[in-house]
Amino acid sequence: MYDNKKMFILGMARSGYEVAKVLVKHNCEILITDMKEQDEEKVKELKELGINLIITDKPEELLDDSFAYVVKNPGIKVDHKVCLKAKELNIPVINELEVAYHYLPKNTKIVAVTGSNGKTTTTTLTYEILKSAGLPVHLGGNIGYPMCSLLDELKENEIIVIELSAQQLHDFYDFRTDIGILTNLTPVHLDHFKTYENYKRCKKKIFNHNTSLVILNGGNQDVIDLTNDIKSKKVYFSSSKECDICIKNNAIYYNEEIIKLDDIRLKGNHNYENIMCAIVVAKYFNVSNEVIKEILTTFAGVEHRLEFVKELNKRSFYNDSKATNVTSTIIALDSFKQPTILLLGGLDRGHSFDELLPHMNNVKFVVCYGETKERILDFCNKNNITCYKKDNLEEATILAYDNSKENDVILLSPACASWDQYEKFEDRGDDFKRVINSLR
Ligand code: ADP
Repeated sequence: MYDNKKMFILGMARSGYEVAKVLVKHNCEILITDMKEQDEEKVKELKELGINLIITDKPEELLDDSFAYVVKNPGIKVDHKVCLKAKELNIPVINELEVAYHYLPKNTKIVAVTGSNGKTTTTTLTYEILKSAGLPVHLGGNIGYPMCSLLDELKENEIIVIELSAQQLHDFYDFRTDIGILTNLTPVHLDHFKTYENYKRCKKKIFNHNTSLVILNGGNQDVIDLTNDIKSKKVYFSSSKECDICIKNNAIYYNEEIIKLDDIRLKGNHNYENIMCAIVVAKYFNVSNEVIKEILTTFAGVEHRLEFVKELNKRSFYNDSKATNVTSTIIALDSFKQPTILLLGGLDRGHSFDELLPHMNNVKFVVCYGETKERILDFCNKNNITCYKKDNLEEATILAYDNSKENDVILLSPACASWDQYEKFEDRGDDFKRVINSLR
């Protein structure tokens, strides 16, 4: 498909580097552009392979009609000048996954997960269950490794479980998934896609070219409406209403009882839905209930997503640093019945905290910190919620612990981005765990 072509790779980052290495093996002539200087070792490696790398903030000036394709990094906006010029010149804009797709070994089965929330958890859990069942399975896409980097290790008849963002789906043409999962839809990433309609249209591409099985959120009207006309076999899941896979008698039920909710380590209805998706995939590959149970009784979640950290003197600590907005914090709060001490704070985007209120019945008190601390304090005072103010997460965590009682949950679900005090949410979660581990 792409052999012997002239390719323009926009953005080197991780996926650009990997796709360049694949394309060069197929005799492509390659130009990569990036705005920033790149890792010296990698640049040297690409140069030795005969790949031309140019650092420039005007890459569009280098694009002309001699190029057959533009391979865009998914993080770059769709109205970037290179994409606009490519359109003018009738050059298709694709991405790393679309390239990898064309070089997959025969009969690779692709299980793909997308949705506004729950992608990483669902993808990881599905992968863990299939792996435990002894199936030949690989993890890729938005988590794990770029698909191009898996090509060398993949053999015929193997399975890839991949997480796909809407940004990645935007530039799909031929990519066909065998099993496609849409966890849910809410209007997010509108800065990138401009309208919710555009965003949903991208998400729908996961079902391009008739997948053999699609797994859909039966409790989400936007998902149902978007997928009405899809012809493949559909399995609907829901934690709140009767569906093909749902909750009955306090257990997950899919043609039969699969596992009791009490035996599942992950908590929260949202996680039960992620689990349902993984179960449907596992059953498609004939995985036994024993293997499914074995994973679900031990899987404690993906790091920083309502991650159980530890129990200390009968207090349970949970790290939900990935909760960078109010919606995610609501989901976390709804997951606990015990008295909860909530750590809130971070970057101030001017957003309101009011929506949290109906979900705060179990919250004993709040500890706020970071850039948003004054506004959180105001919100709590206005609503008669006890609130302590601290400068940073370390002080907030210590105060929470000092004022806690047995059986309390101490939850970091900050409802704000981390960038006022950390480079990324992972660093914030790691710092929280470091402080917890220093407590006695
Ligand atoms: P994503 O990869 O889509 O960002 P994650 O699995 O990383 O999703 O979870 C991120 C956050 O989204 C979690 O901390 C939780 O607050 C929320 N979440 C997870 N699963 C779901 C779900 N099925 N429905 C709604 N929210 C969810």
